[in-house]
Amino acid sequence: MWFKFFQAKRPSSTATVETIALSTGSVPLHLVRLARARRYVLRLRNDGTVRVTIPCGGSLTEGKKFAERQREWLENQIQKRASSPRQKSRWSIGSEILLRGQLVQIELMEAGKIRVGTEEMNIADAEADLRPAIEAQLRRLAARELPARVWELAKQHQFTVQRVTVRNQRSRWGSCSRRGTISLNWRLIQTPAHVSDYIILHELAHLRHLNHSQHFWQEVEKLCPSYLDAEKWLKIHRGRLI
Ligand SMILES: [Zn+2]
Repeated sequence: MWFKFFQAKRPSSTATVETIALSTGSVPLHLVRLARARRYVLRLRNDGTVRVTIPCGGSLTEGKKFAERQREWLENQIQKRASSPRQKSRWSIGSEILLRGQLVQIELMEAGKIRVGTEEMNIADAEADLRPAIEAQLRRLAARELPARVWELAKQHQFTVQRVTVRNQRSRWGSCSRRGTISLNWRLIQTPAHVSDYIILHELAHLRHLNHSQHFWQEVEKLCPSYLDAEKWLKIHRGRLI
């Protein structure tokens, strides 16, 4: 973790710029001497350049070697960033988005009408960012489909659920209250059924264990034996969804 959060606050440093060759291409490598640094620290900056801090008594050669040893980590990070843009991207005709786990293209049907996978909708302006309108539509779709699935799975596995809500959560897929309310993130409509089912079963399991104890995970595994695949899918696609 330590190489991620380091930031130089004062400009009392000098940088030597070199490059580091990665399988994804060469990237600038800034070697920065910092008197108060105690060890070599590597950071991938937001602009895609790499920075290595050289501690007091360290050398440029060692700094470069240090960066080269982290090559694999850097390549992974660069790939990760490429597949998960930080900012919400604009959606327009031709953009690909996830719907029920499938990448579908936004198609223009006729003036004022678009199709996204199974969904058709009217839009005011095809040139504008289509994301707000499409997200609103997907949210309505989620509000229709996800609660029905919760009731179905609850019945199948003998859980008593009081209420189901579908919400616009920033950072979680679902939650479960002590009183038996299950809340789901509408973006689960964008995931494959095995993933949204897992989240629902995960929240149902919280009705029996309001924690993430070993007993809880045993319950999850019983309800959803392939839950690790679902967790993995979410990890890979999270950037595209939230
Ligand atoms: Zn949980």
